Amino acid sequence: MKAEIIAVGTELLLGQIVNSNAQYLSTQLAELGIHVYFHTVVGDNAGRLRETIQTSQNRSDLVILTGGLGPTRDDITKETVADILGKKQVIDQQALEKIESYFRHRQLPMSSNNRKQAEVIEGSRVFPNDYGMAPGMAVEEENRHYVLLPGPPSELKPMFEQYVRPYLQSLMPDSYTVFSRTLRFFGIGESRLDEKLSDLIQNQSNPTIAPLAKEYEVTIRLTARAASRDEANRMISGIEQEIRNRTGRFIYGQDDESLQQVVVRMLKERGKSVAVAESCTGGMIAEMITSVAGSSQVFPGSIVSYSNGIKQTALHIPEQVIRKYGAVSEQTARLMSENIRGIMDTEYGVSVTGVAGPDRQEEKEVGTVYIGLSNSENTRVFPLKLAGHRHAIRLQAAKYALYYLWQSMKEG
Ligand code: ATP
Repeated sequence: MKAEIIAVGTELLLGQIVNSNAQYLSTQLAELGIHVYFHTVVGDNAGRLRETIQTSQNRSDLVILTGGLGPTRDDITKETVADILGKKQVIDQQALEKIESYFRHRQLPMSSNNRKQAEVIEGSRVFPNDYGMAPGMAVEEENRHYVLLPGPPSELKPMFEQYVRPYLQSLMPDSYTVFSRTLRFFGIGESRLDEKLSDLIQNQSNPTIAPLAKEYEVTIRLTARAASRDEANRMISGIEQEIRNRTGRFIYGQDDESLQQVVVRMLKERGKSVAVAESCTGGMIAEMITSVAGSSQVFPGSIVSYSNGIKQTALHIPEQVIRKYGAVSEQTARLMSENIRGIMDTEYGVSVTGVAGPDRQEEKEVGTVYIGLSNSENTRVFPLKLAGHRHAIRLQAAKYALYYLWQSMKEG
């Protein structure tokens, strides 16, 4: 099946937003074995959109359009596709009820434009929008499939996962199932991982092995095509085991579970809790942990002890320790993690102190970071030399703190 993606929106042409929908959809379609041959961006202009769709009709079996499903005058995607195909638009009752109930709930007046959002092209398969108003849809005409999706990625992605992927799979031959699993790594860079797995990656065909580095983590997506889900699963498990044998200590989780979610889940499973004393990360670890719903069960709180004075008064770090070794030191990190554990009465105490830059501090290089991890048995301090700008160092330090906690729970 030959596909193309048409992103509609003048903001894209002006460079105000990046066409991340095309990137997302292309990776998803590739996994389904659908070849994408063109990406086009067109502004909110009916004439040029019409031309673009007509061009696609000469070369693609599947045309995916994103954006322009909203309530305003410049949202023209549905009208233009309906017009080209000679079809009417009809109200989708389910979408209308959802929009009406939203306005009732917010006690806001509903305009006729909002009603327009509930319209779909007649004869189309409707994809409910679980995170917004405008439904998506697929319509078939002369063996060509048109799929219309909302612009906001927060609406498009879940709609794709939930409804569009199964729809596209239903268009493929019966015996063709695609199944993927993502392994999540921390503490190892993409190139080192690539080195350790290079023979597997080079010889890949089915399952495919796709590494991706993002926000100082690496993911590897394993995708298998097979006659059944069970068989695809078996194929993935084989290669996954080999990857785990070589690099297992860096694999903290899989699929969509983030490092902080894994840590919170493991603390809950073990009936343990953690408190955090942060210096250079300024509360980032606390933010990451509390972003996980239900984390209050395992996380009473943190102290952001940015100045030396607060390290002394709030965390009881003796002045002479700071004077002798420095605020950024193994000794200070050690005491911070031990003391926060006592202050908050938790099983684990985690601390971070470091130089985030841009300037050196206490004669220590930018990127010098110490992470303390304390429990009733012992206290360990992990020295790190991190690279990058200020935000990069802070984010990596916060993630390392969670990573060491994860490792310690796994070992214990
Ligand atoms: P809405 O109902 O919110 O108006 P829509 O389907 O009409 O949705 P647009 O109005 O075209 O979509 O875009 C809404 C927002 O979605 C944009 O401001 C932008 O933030 C995001 N967006 C649109 N197209 C893309 C794209 N191709 N890639 C990434 N983000 C996009």
